Amino acid sequence: MSKYDYDLFVIGAGSGGTRAARVSASYGAKVAVAEEYRVGGTCVIRGCVPKKMLVYGSHFSEDLEDGKNFGWTWQNAKFDWTKLRDHILSDVDRLNNAYTETLKNHDVEIILERAEIVGPHEVKLASGKTVTAKYILIAVGAWPVKPDFPGSELAQTSNEMFHLEKLPKKVIIAGGGYIANEFAGIFNGLGSEVTVVNRSDVILRGYDESLRDRLLQISLAKGISYKFNCTFDKIEQRDDSGFDVYMDGKDPVQADVVLIATGRSPKIQGLGLENAGVETNEKGAIKVDEYSRTNVDSIYAVGDVTDRVQLTPVAIREGQAFADTVFNNDPKTVDYSCIPSAVFSQPPIASVGLTEGEARTQYGNIKVYSSDFRAMRNAFADRPERSLYKMIVEATSEKILGLHMIGPDAPEILQAAAIAVKAGLTKQAFDDTVALHPSMAEELVLFK
Ligand code: NDP
Repeated sequence: MSKYDYDLFVIGAGSGGTRAARVSASYGAKVAVAEEYRVGGTCVIRGCVPKKMLVYGSHFSEDLEDGKNFGWTWQNAKFDWTKLRDHILSDVDRLNNAYTETLKNHDVEIILERAEIVGPHEVKLASGKTVTAKYILIAVGAWPVKPDFPGSELAQTSNEMFHLEKLPKKVIIAGGGYIANEFAGIFNGLGSEVTVVNRSDVILRGYDESLRDRLLQISLAKGISYKFNCTFDKIEQRDDSGFDVYMDGKDPVQADVVLIATGRSPKIQGLGLENAGVETNEKGAIKVDEYSRTNVDSIYAVGDVTDRVQLTPVAIREGQAFADTVFNNDPKTVDYSCIPSAVFSQPPIASVGLTEGEARTQYGNIKVYSSDFRAMRNAFADRPERSLYKMIVEATSEKILGLHMIGPDAPEILQAAAIAVKAGLTKQAFDDTVALHPSMAEELVLFK
């Protein structure tokens, strides 16, 4: 008989926590998971999944326009925000139920309450009840950060974007990262006037420069405005329910919605880390070793709260590795090299491995192959937008160091190509592969 109530107590039922709980239970552990909001976490409830639905919904405006050259005419085509929003929210309900069912089917106890750590093996629930566990896994994720300026409380974060009462006519977006560029594309596609405001003159820091430039050029051509090296002074509420946004000491600009997308921080407030002596780093992220173990032997942490790589599939891998290590006697670590990523901007960006700049710094002697082309569908639709694919290779061996793409379906194509990059293949392996014609992806095996 265990001296603890549970073998594992997971705090947070997001991507990492759910995977860890389910798999640990399948290995025979007695598991409970506490969730203060909804099972599924950021990705499912207010992130990747509903965002992708908004991207799809928004992209129909271009598809309808392009349809003309394909012989289609549309009469009275209209967009209804509430219809899209409500359908997305009902899909989120479906996924929330599916995640809940999966946990229940694995005999994981779900406790829909906030939990606070009170000791190395002890957790206090919002109801006041205290439970004990041999291991505690922290998987509480991250939360949007708002810069501190007067009126910033009037601005929204991505959390609220899925619940807007109506489609805004004018949107100002603070930040130049993933969320800013994805929502800029969404609102632009849906007909809103969009301005992206960033503190530096760089969008999507970390992505290959040529792709960032290409996205910027295409976004400008689509009518999205950018203000660079610009800071917010204050936001004031207007009588007409909109806002006056003051930036860089200039006259105010009006907006119906101000979206702040300036990064996400580990959500450690009120978690009771100090009660067990769990250490965090200077960014507030929980410090863990390669097995996701904190400095307290019985407490582990996975996902965004550790700020290793803030991506859902990474959190899932960390949750899986935790369960294998702790409950299956099979120590596993996560390989963080060659993680593919995508920005669901319009067009999307997808990338794996080193950027050209990083490869030059690390390897010195590199070669860059690129293909700058107009997708057949865009050419036929008279859409000027061009795609750009880049392959970065080590000069002598031609081993692929990085692959970067912007263009329709880039994430769908790159996921498959990333397998080759991860496997350490060379450009020759791509050259040896016969093109699949006509496709955009064939450009990958036709680099000259
Ligand atoms: P990002 O880290 O992508 O971008 C943050 C942006 O905000 C940058 O442009 C940065 O500017 C700017 N910024 C940072 N701090 C401040 C500040 N104090 N004041 C003003 N501007 C600031 O953050 P997001 O919020 O867009 O996304 C959060 C995380 O969510 C991402 O890191 C990503 O991991 C994840 N995510 C992933 C998605 C995907 O995989 N497709 C989609 C959405 C989110 P600068 O670069 O100039 O320093």
